[in-house]
Amino acid sequence: MTMRNFLMSAFTAVDVIRTKRDGEVLSDAQIDWVVDAYTRGQVADEQMSALAMAILLRGMTPAEIARWTAAMIASGERLDLSGVPRPTVDKHSTGGVGDKITLPLTPLVAACGAAVPQLSGRGLGHTGGTLDKLESIPGWRADLTNDEFSAQLRDVGAVICAAGAGLAPADRKLYALRDVTGTVEAIPLIASSIMSKKIAEGTGALVLDVKVGSGAFMKSVADARSLARTMVDLGCAHGVRTVALVTDMSTPLGHAVGNAVEVAEAIEVLAGGGPRDVVELTLALAREMLAAAGLADADPAAALADGRAMDTWRAMVRAQGGDPEAPLPVAGESETVRAERDGYVAVDAYGVGLAAWRLGAGRARKEDPVSAAAGIVLHRRHGEPVRAGDPLYELRTDEAARIPAALAEAQAAVVVSDPRTVTSPLVIERVG
Ligand code: URA
Repeated sequence: MTMRNFLMSAFTAVDVIRTKRDGEVLSDAQIDWVVDAYTRGQVADEQMSALAMAILLRGMTPAEIARWTAAMIASGERLDLSGVPRPTVDKHSTGGVGDKITLPLTPLVAACGAAVPQLSGRGLGHTGGTLDKLESIPGWRADLTNDEFSAQLRDVGAVICAAGAGLAPADRKLYALRDVTGTVEAIPLIASSIMSKKIAEGTGALVLDVKVGSGAFMKSVADARSLARTMVDLGCAHGVRTVALVTDMSTPLGHAVGNAVEVAEAIEVLAGGGPRDVVELTLALAREMLAAAGLADADPAAALADGRAMDTWRAMVRAQGGDPEAPLPVAGESETVRAERDGYVAVDAYGVGLAAWRLGAGRARKEDPVSAAAGIVLHRRHGEPVRAGDPLYELRTDEAARIPAALAEAQAAVVVSDPRTVTSPLVIERVG
């Protein structure tokens, strides 16, 4: 009897579901079996949905999460980046609104001497995806072979591309299922999903940006801290030097939310300008990444100011077929909304994310296309004063019919009132 046949005969999905439903701890063998059997189609989607819901409601012990993560890594290939002649370090954000930080951060950290292997995803729901943003650059392609990925990492030091199908296939299947069964927001499942992909990608060090606030999965600092701690422990247990920053996502990052508009804002940062919060978070994450890569003496602010980060951005875009000088797509339709009264602006991240999604910047199902030009440009940011008649924000879309629904979301998300509402600091805490 092969080991696989032994494992197949040792358990049933119903027993595994019942164990977790009743609040008991899954054994290592149960976890190995159920993850493997689900990946191979031997456990049905409805059974895995029930198990995911039981995990969401009952939780998992640290040992269960570690085993589940290891089983997801083992479901696919593990890249070997040991041939890359620089220290490797990656960053992962748990997702937010206007979160274009990966775009300036990846070339910036590479310009400071590290190699950044950034395997990214597409957006779903109200949060944007890095690949969708980059695809607004004419010619740029997200899909690279493993050889192209390694060569670009060696030659340019920076790659942002789609994760190949061979990396943690269990997560690819499970994530799609969680998305349609209300089981995304379980800390054990989020932590194992993110960390299985990052560990399989082969990076030596990792910095996590764990978002908290209305535009994030985690709505409380306590939950964000717990997610950060779980992921840091998983990374360290697998030999990846991992630290996390818990950062505010109650209001969007920067002025731009969408695809091409976010690329344009990222380029402003690489040119030495850009919104203060985007620059602050880019530099905070860059410093953590460089320290984790053993390059703590590098000065990322200098690399932004003297154009080295911009040079690496151009090389990175060109290496993937993109033209960094080409004009970005412009929306056919736009509508500017003005303040009706004097006061202070309050901007809610979740509502702005939904409005951008309604304009066509995001997708409802993973097969849907996104519009490169759709998005929102905020003329006033959270906490800023405004006078009646001043422009508040601009909606951009390719289809005028999308404007009314987007406007309804935006009007609820961007309000002018007294007094001024304050948000927490951008970087709330560090989990190391
Ligand atoms: N991002 C992931 O890759 N997985 C999750 O579960 C949540 C966010």
